[in-house]
Amino acid sequence: MALGGQAGTSSRIENYLGFPAGLSGFELASRALVQAEKFGAQTAVPQEAVGLKRKDGQYGIELLEGGQVVARTVIAATGARYRRLDVPRLGRFEGVSIHYAATEAEAQRCEGEEIAVVGGGNSAGQAALFLAGRTPRVYLLIRGDDLDKTMSRYLVDRVIDAENVELLANTEVRELMGEDRLEGIVVENNRWGAKRTLGTRALFVFIGAQANTGWLEGAVELDERGFILTGGELERSALGGVLWRPLLREPYLLETSLPGVFAAGDVRSGSIKRVASAVGEGSMAVRFAHQYLAETRA
Ligand SMILES: Cc1cc2nc3c(=O)[nH]c(=O)nc-3n(C[C@H](O)[C@H](O)[C@H](O)COP(=O)(O)OP(=O)(O)OC[C@H]3O[C@@H](n4cnc5c(N)ncnc54)[C@H](O)[C@@H]3O)c2cc1C
Repeated sequence: MALGGQAGTSSRIENYLGFPAGLSGFELASRALVQAEKFGAQTAVPQEAVGLKRKDGQYGIELLEGGQVVARTVIAATGARYRRLDVPRLGRFEGVSIHYAATEAEAQRCEGEEIAVVGGGNSAGQAALFLAGRTPRVYLLIRGDDLDKTMSRYLVDRVIDAENVELLANTEVRELMGEDRLEGIVVENNRWGAKRTLGTRALFVFIGAQANTGWLEGAVELDERGFILTGGELERSALGGVLWRPLLREPYLLETSLPGVFAAGDVRSGSIKRVASAVGEGSMAVRFAHQYLAETRA
């Protein structure tokens, strides 16, 4: 458990408002900590939450090392862990040439260059097609032998039809070449062992993300992938209990199935997975928390 979360591991964040030249994730996290403390936030690092219980209108966050933090309202912002490739020198290129999202910002950075996308799911397929419109060649690398097993049919058809997308099945990344920026990758066919060097200047990794919600299992409603459901995403059945009835309202936008418990950032089902959106949701959640405190004041 470290301050800064995933952003703290990024070597350069260039799409956060107010920093046109970009800054390292570590610097952004350090500045955020100073600012939060200036406004009176108290930090306790490292402390791992392992459970959440409601008792007498209060919530108790159970800590790994024993004891608990008791509060009337809670904001869960425990984020997610992106599955990373198991390949040497990965950290050196992350945020520079290795990306976990394919938006306009990333596309601009590799315009006109050969790139590779790793993953066989829909997110990988969508990224490959989007980037194919901006780059001369996209290699789509999948570990298995068949895209159909993991990707929606309509995307498979489009990937196959795209002239500049080359599907490399049974293929895994073995080596990253270059010093400051990626200059190529060595891939290996995991069936025959044949190796090949690709001149890709950027690598997009879509091999899944795991929500850090172990501490909330059984306490709040999660989606099928373990991310926290909030607001309108919650089934009515989750809101019928005695906790909701006295409030006479629907859950707020970022409220979980437990009234007064909110979720913000990557841990939330359907979130955007960006620093700016996580920060924005955090400030919204604080506002909702104040509303909840006001309406439940004794
Ligand atoms: C390598 C990399 C580069 C990225 N680059 C960019 C970029 O350039 N621009 C951009 O907009 N986005 C980028 N992102 C995405 C961005 O970092 C995330 O969207 C953002 O950090 C989400 O913030 P968060 O607070 O929701 O979650 P996180 O950053 O995941 O933070 C969650 C925090 O909660 C802690 N935690 C987890 N479980 C527990 C627990 N049980 N108890 C206590 N604490 C816990 C974690 O240790 C962590 O500190 C990048 C992500 C990665 C991995």
